[in-house]
Amino acid sequence: MQIIRAERVLTGRSGEVIADGEVAVDGDTIVSVGPRGSAGDAGDVLDLPGHTVLPGLVDAHVHLGFDAGVDPVTRRSAESDRHLLLRMAENARKLVSAGVTTARDLGGRGFLDLALRDAIEEGLAVGPHILAATRPITITGGHCWYMGGEADDEPAIRRVARENLRAGADCLKVMVSGGQMTPGAPPSWVCQYDTEQIRAVVDEAATRGKGVAAHAHAHAAIRSALEAGVATIEHCSFLTASGHRYDAELADLIAASGTYVCPTVHGVFWRLRDTFGAEMFDAWLSGVAAMREAGVRLIAGTDSGFAAAGVANPTDAYVAGLEVFAHAGFGNAEIVEMATVRAADACGVGAVTGALEAGKRADLIAVRGDPLDRIADLRNLTLVLVSGRAVTQTGVDTVTSSVG
Ligand SMILES: [Zn+2]
Repeated sequence: MQIIRAERVLTGRSGEVIADGEVAVDGDTIVSVGPRGSAGDAGDVLDLPGHTVLPGLVDAHVHLGFDAGVDPVTRRSAESDRHLLLRMAENARKLVSAGVTTARDLGGRGFLDLALRDAIEEGLAVGPHILAATRPITITGGHCWYMGGEADDEPAIRRVARENLRAGADCLKVMVSGGQMTPGAPPSWVCQYDTEQIRAVVDEAATRGKGVAAHAHAHAAIRSALEAGVATIEHCSFLTASGHRYDAELADLIAASGTYVCPTVHGVFWRLRDTFGAEMFDAWLSGVAAMREAGVRLIAGTDSGFAAAGVANPTDAYVAGLEVFAHAGFGNAEIVEMATVRAADACGVGAVTGALEAGKRADLIAVRGDPLDRIADLRNLTLVLVSGRAVTQTGVDTVTSSVG
């Protein structure tokens, strides 16, 4: 048994803090959480004065198979699956080095995310626990079609969904609206599917007890995803052809339904704001803040892997994304909750991870300082445990992001 003692322990639940606390871990499982001494003395004690121990961070939206820099459609033919898998492994290593112990990969090709997920679980590769959506379901030539999940009508949609589930997908991803990075695809403010078609995806996922993540920028796409009963709405940016136009009535409906929204607030916000203009980015972020005011259950997720106008969104910029939430007026305790317990719940793994509680998986981090006081202290990683295994024996080889 290992006992990790620190100046404070954040359990992840609504800002709960145990001063001078400790977490006891046996193998891959947390066996107790409480004040100093509560676990007894029968274990190896790691004492971390001046530190905070908290649940490992959860990134609810990543793309390990994007390389944050090259046109993905071109790369599809230029890069072998073998090479891509190695790069995904390196992205996974960077992600865990930023304190992320669970990541939901919302789209990639060739079921490589499943191979990487399983390799990490076997200890063959270093990374967070991965929840893999595999091929996103999209229309022929639609957003991210090159990942192999094209389907135009309900039978085809069910077929792709079932194939993904047969391969071992942990969730399904559906592109309800167009997007920004697929040449020739419908733009973000155009719908690709209607409510009935999305409901078919939700039905198929439910047969295996899985949830659906819906990519939705356009108002009608957000509404359809909500009506179809998806688990999480991704982006939810209220985009029109002429920019962001927040819809308070729609946000109220989302809040009332309890549907989670991952607004993909990322660490390259400021650089993209410089590139594309303050007006657009400020409107987007004020929409995120307005959803919070409306009571929408927001979660942290970075969409890492994409690049826009030469600005790459790297996998290790997770904390920089949390700092953007802080800039938008979110409190630090709330941000920690969005990044841990609430994101885990949204991704369907809240019973397993996301909080420090006896019986949960030993996914935790220790940072110097106090993230409730200064969210940037989440960068000061001393320890990362994934299923009770330290990412390195001598402390974390933190890949300091180029961002923030
Ligand atoms: Zn994405």
